[in-house]
Amino acid sequence: TKTIAGVRADRLGAIAEREARRFGAGRKLSAEAMAAGSGAFLYGVPMHWMTDWPMPHLPVVAKAQGARLTDIDGYEIDDFCLGDTGSMFGHSPAPVAKAIRHQARRGLTYMLPTTDALEAGHLLTERFGDFRWQIATTATDANRFALRVARAVTGRPKVLVFNGCYHGTLDDTMVELSGGHTVNRVGLVGQVQDLTLGAVAVEFNDLAAVEAALATGEVAAVLTEPVMTNCCMVLPEAGFLQGLRDLTRRYGSLLIIDETHTLSTGLGGYTGVHGLQPDIFVVGKCVAGGMPTAVWGLSPDVAARFRAYDDARPAGHSGMGTTLSGNPVQFACLRATLAEVMTPANYAKMDKGAARLAAGLSAAIERHKAPWHVVRVGARVEFICAKGPLRNGTEAGAAHQPALEAAIHTALLNRGCLIAPFHNMMLVSPATTKRQIDRLIAAFDEILTDLFE
Ligand code: PMP
Repeated sequence: TKTIAGVRADRLGAIAEREARRFGAGRKLSAEAMAAGSGAFLYGVPMHWMTDWPMPHLPVVAKAQGARLTDIDGYEIDDFCLGDTGSMFGHSPAPVAKAIRHQARRGLTYMLPTTDALEAGHLLTERFGDFRWQIATTATDANRFALRVARAVTGRPKVLVFNGCYHGTLDDTMVELSGGHTVNRVGLVGQVQDLTLGAVAVEFNDLAAVEAALATGEVAAVLTEPVMTNCCMVLPEAGFLQGLRDLTRRYGSLLIIDETHTLSTGLGGYTGVHGLQPDIFVVGKCVAGGMPTAVWGLSPDVAARFRAYDDARPAGHSGMGTTLSGNPVQFACLRATLAEVMTPANYAKMDKGAARLAAGLSAAIERHKAPWHVVRVGARVEFICAKGPLRNGTEAGAAHQPALEAAIHTALLNRGCLIAPFHNMMLVSPATTKRQIDRLIAAFDEILTDLFE
């Protein structure tokens, strides 16, 4: 019989059907609310990617607090998805909720700084290092602006990205490798440009390919996550990130580090914990505790080069901006998060809990002799339904098992645990309890028992 990642396909089919039925039977109020209320939306969802959740229909959320969601059917769900990192520090952290309440009566957006903004600037430098900061609302925009600066100061056209990467819906990065060549990504909607004029893709962990691309002299910047987190997780091999730094310096390209997901690593993100030296530092999602905010920072050297460029360019639109960015609510939340939430004590809790979760999942995988593995980057844990370690985006793509993963996600939710929909990712927040972690491990073990025995 056919198997998928070691699981018999017929068994998987039966389990997937049973779990889908169980979900539907237990969530009548959500089903009715969605049926009655979602018709105004394209595909019946406010964001098209909500159709990527694997359950037969979506649970409608009543509230969230800490690491727990409550849906309108009354289920309490242990949330390990945490908004795919936007709520990595827990839902509505108390200092952030307080900052919102305080600012709510003082204006929501007005294109001028507040004292919170000035204090947030100091805190950004304290937490992330000596950069000259700018604010955006999404990490997509922060990467877009970072890339503009890189092209401006180097006068070069291309961004080098790694095959299988994701840096938001930034068109410039929407390329992939096909037969050894960079091409527009296959599924892109409505793209009429040849993106390869401004981008080149190579495999992660392949310094020879990076060097060959940089040697063309066309690359303004390498844009990368320190760990590839948007496919099945791929860790950098020893020396790879240092090699990137050395090569970009040698060939005059900038190094942009996107910490949006790897902020899970610890204080200062992967950059802070491992002493990386990016030319441009980007982080979004949870940096203001869940209030839509992203930041990008230029090293003093790049800031000086950009200043010279900016002074010399003709007057006119810069192509950088967005009106709602840098509003006082963002700054209130950014300040509160940096000062009171993104603390060594909270990171210590997250790390300890994530280590417990990774060990528990690994033990279950071993017990059931599943040909799978677990990867962890600080608070971020992922099980991968293939043997590891994975070395690059091509291997990560091959490791992804959509049908199997969908069944596991629904089965976990039926046992009270929500994990991230686009991959098998679980985050441990400062609010996540040992009991919640142990419940997830037990649910995972129970599902593996079904799948493998
Ligand atoms: N960078 C990375 C590494 C990401 O994972 C994401 C989103 N998953 C983004 C940027 C874009 O973030 P946003 O959707 O908030 O624009």
